[in-house]
Amino acid sequence: MKIAIIGAGATGLTAGWKLSEKGHCVTVYEKNDRIGGLTSVVPVGDDLLEIYYHHIFTNDTVIIDVIKELGLEKDLKWYEPSNVIYINEKIYPFTSPLDLLMFKPLSLISRIRMGLMVIHAWFIKDYLAIENMTAREWIIRHGGEECYRLVWEPLLNSKFDFDSDKISATWIWNKFKLRGSSRGKNINKELLGYMDGSFIKIYNKIAERIKANKGEIRLNDGVTEISKNYDRFRVRSQSGTEEFDSVIFTASPERLSYVIKGMGRQYLDSLRKIKYKANICMILELSESLMPNYWMTVADRDIPFVLVIEHTNLVKNHKYGSHIVYLSRYLDITNELYGMDDESIKSLFISGLKKIFPDFKEEWIKKYHINRTRDAQPVVTTGYSRLIPDVETPMKGLYLTSMSQIYPEDRGQNYAILSGLEISRRFPAVEE
Ligand SMILES: Cc1cc2nc3c(=O)[nH]c(=O)nc-3n(C[C@H](O)[C@H](O)[C@H](O)COP(=O)(O)OP(=O)(O)OC[C@H]3O[C@@H](n4cnc5c(N)ncnc54)[C@H](O)[C@@H]3O)c2cc1C
Repeated sequence: MKIAIIGAGATGLTAGWKLSEKGHCVTVYEKNDRIGGLTSVVPVGDDLLEIYYHHIFTNDTVIIDVIKELGLEKDLKWYEPSNVIYINEKIYPFTSPLDLLMFKPLSLISRIRMGLMVIHAWFIKDYLAIENMTAREWIIRHGGEECYRLVWEPLLNSKFDFDSDKISATWIWNKFKLRGSSRGKNINKELLGYMDGSFIKIYNKIAERIKANKGEIRLNDGVTEISKNYDRFRVRSQSGTEEFDSVIFTASPERLSYVIKGMGRQYLDSLRKIKYKANICMILELSESLMPNYWMTVADRDIPFVLVIEHTNLVKNHKYGSHIVYLSRYLDITNELYGMDDESIKSLFISGLKKIFPDFKEEWIKKYHINRTRDAQPVVTTGYSRLIPDVETPMKGLYLTSMSQIYPEDRGQNYAILSGLEISRRFPAVEE
């Protein structure tokens, strides 16, 4: 079959690789000038670095298997992170259950309740049973009001902006479950994985495989229209129009709703019900280290970002020639910050950084990069399972597989790769 795949992120590339391996004729369309989607990279020093911070967990078994299949396992390294939280103008360790017990901003009873809440989450199997409850209700019920107000309310706000009160308990449950299961035998020790040379190594290798199987990857070729005439799809892109037997769309459902032609209003509206939050991420290449830790969660509404990540405090094997720090902010695209120019975002973020680290000096900045994406994080509201569109669209032969459909899991490369593998299984291999 002649198959068009829209999007050269982890999902689209994996689908293209496996379908071309099965003998199908694959064309991957990518609107950007490079592959990788959210995992795409910029050169930093003599190395490559993701434009958005990435690591994997020990239970991300699908991506680990793919890394092995591609012969890249020697590049996957496991590191022990050090996590802290900034709260009430102070920094507290926040990695292990022991840290939680010692967490001064909360009363002893709230600390114990928060610990029990996390353990309770690990044992929940039927996530649908809590799907209609908001994260707020669930946290207050199990962790108490103090724990919600001080820790989780600012975090939910900075992740989901004005939608934070609609977030389903399943989302927070999944976060607790995930972090718990990347600890291995020692509950106090978390392990995070990173590839020498960045995760793009995986996607470059997959792109090589697609090309070796006579598939094509078209960069700078955004798809503007998908229509169907009898059994054939017509895909219109910046480079022209081409016909296919089948189409796989890997960007957000809302994006699909804008390019698909000939579908009823009801279906288009259902695609637009799934909302995403945007992200602005600033990378700083610094001459000095900012902090001794890898991951800082900022639970303070007056600071314009929610995460400070000193990537080089996790990843030891690199050639960046600098200390790498990411500052991350999630927001709605209607938020005026999203439309601000890079200079204004930089000065806003730097002023926030100086509040946390009064000794920080702007002279330390050798270079900075600002990236933003509209589709960073699906907004997992209550009753989310009823909103998720089917992978099979009403237009037979057109498939939609995006990070909004991997629920109850949250976005991540592991599930993007899994979606790519699963969609490829729907197509039989070509007979010799
Ligand atoms: C801030 C941030 C931090 C993250 N941290 C982690 C982490 O630590 N670990 C982890 O595993 N995951 C992390 N993720 C998630 C991970 O990056 C994603 O789950 C994964 O990369 C999604 O891959 P995808 O292919 O489904 O989507 P995308 O990467 O979004 O790819 C979709 C592609 O489609 C293209 N496209 C869209 N519309 C069109 C069109 N009309 N025509 C042609 N092309 C089009 C886009 O340009 C894009 O390249 C993070 C994401 C963000 C935003």
